[in-house]
Amino acid sequence: MTVIKEDGLFRPFVGTSELKCEDISENLMQYFHISEQVATAVAIGVSVENGECLAAGGVVMQLLPGTCEENMDRAENAMQDFVDICKVLKEGGADGIMQKYFSSVTEEKAIYLTFPEYKCNCSRKKIEGVIKSLGKKEAMDIVAERGKVEVHCHYCNTDYAFGEEDIEELF
Ligand SMILES: [Zn+2]
Repeated sequence: MTVIKEDGLFRPFVGTSELKCEDISENLMQYFHISEQVATAVAIGVSVENGECLAAGGVVMQLLPGTCEENMDRAENAMQDFVDICKVLKEGGADGIMQKYFSSVTEEKAIYLTFPEYKCNCSRKKIEGVIKSLGKKEAMDIVAERGKVEVHCHYCNTDYAFGEEDIEELF
């Protein structure tokens, strides 16, 4: 399993770990343990009925460095509530989970919402930067050999092509 994390600041962090079993939660826990070396409990799942997704999601809990024994026990106990995560999700969704199980946290407002989306930070502008780093001679050699400089983003599957005129303009 390969995980690519992009925080928008540096290069994307790429971590790989061997798949342990068919359970995605187990595999993610192993990934966090081996690749990121963070003690992590994962309970995620998806509930499908007649081809329709009824619920998908889960709870991921990580211990901060230097966590005391008492909080480790609290985290371990809290995860017991999510053994059947699909059932819990169907009952209340993500909001329900926060209200029912993490009310002490939500009261302290130590919470923020984020909305995941499928997108990539690549752009023609960024790729231009990559081509500039090649230098004009190298870029022109590629154009002479292949007719254009092609760059493929493996993350979002987008192709970028730069012809001779584009290269001239860049430099
Ligand atoms: Zn991309």
